[in-house]
Amino acid sequence: MKELESFTIDSKCLFCDATLIGDTTKKYSSGDLIKCMNCGENNDYDSLIDIASTEGLEVVSKQVNEHFEKLVKDMFKD
Ligand SMILES: [Zn+2]
Repeated sequence: MKELESFTIDSKCLFCDATLIGDTTKKYSSGDLIKCMNCGENNDYDSLIDIASTEGLEVVSKQVNEHFEKLVKDMFKD
């Protein structure tokens, strides 16, 4: 079975849509705020994770569907 393509999800600022660059020396966890370098607003970590996981699921399910369609086509090939 072919492995699913890898993908990345960037965390985007909830206010200005700039890519968030977190402090790499710090580990973020639930309840933390990540300050946007572009607009200076504080982004709620939990909201960012929510959005990232929703987008991630969409990407994964799309890839699984495409893979499955190909698999079915191959099965019914003469
Ligand atoms: Zn921002």
